[in-house]
Amino acid sequence: DAETPLVVAGLRKTYKDGFVAVDGVDFRVERGQVVGLLGPNGAGKTTTLRTLMGLLQPTSGSLTVFGHQVTPGAPVLSRLGALVEGPGLLPHLSGVDNLRLFWRATGRPIEEAHLDEVIKIADLGERIHRKVRTYSHGMKQRVAIAQAMLGLPELLVLDEPTDGLDPPQIAEMRRVLHEYARDGRAVLVSSHLLAEVEQTCTHVVVMSRGRVVGAGEVADVIGTGTGARLEDAFL
Ligand code: ATP
Repeated sequence: DAETPLVVAGLRKTYKDGFVAVDGVDFRVERGQVVGLLGPNGAGKTTTLRTLMGLLQPTSGSLTVFGHQVTPGAPVLSRLGALVEGPGLLPHLSGVDNLRLFWRATGRPIEEAHLDEVIKIADLGERIHRKVRTYSHGMKQRVAIAQAMLGLPELLVLDEPTDGLDPPQIAEMRRVLHEYARDGRAVLVSSHLLAEVEQTCTHVVVMSRGRVVGAGEVADVIGTGTGARLEDAFL
């Protein structure tokens, strides 16, 4: 329906060589949630995110963003902000100039108040005026995420945003993602590390070998009792 950020229904993706990377996946992302798509390497997370971005054509099934079905090549939905590739920031420019440059490329006018709001949500502070080459990995990661947040899309999709971050940076990322999901927005992130999802997300969808093997609130799915099922997923 038009109010739900994401509904994935019966999604399948078979690659040209016949390999079934995503094998009938169903899950939803609701407003206010920070959802972690969790699974070991090869589980099918990136394939799922790439079909969501319209970069890959699903073999069957559908992805529906606020009631609009995603189709490859269709104009990217303005309500969806995505960061799939790693940070592509220009090191000799400041963080804020990188944001301006990125935004200009979308052809939309730059409003300083809007830029300030995104800088505040992403908790970039005064450091945003220093050159990117002086930033820590965590700061670079948050500037790249701020790029995806420009325009305040109601569904923000990030591939492995916590990859390579240390515990304080992960705690920072949690604050940023939770702040973003307030006011009815939603976030979908992938990760191959259970601890990262546990520390940053409200909900989790566990994938293994192209299928969903568990989903729900982080405390229920990752908490005690379901350990055996999760271990299965990670074998
Ligand atoms: P990772 O964390 O390593 O990215 P993932 O969960 O995101 O893992 P995918 O990248 O979606 O998993 O890959 C799922 C499976 O599909 C893997 O076994 C991969 O080898 C395979 N695969 C990915 N792209 C292709 C392709 N273009 N052709 C054939 N097989 C592919």
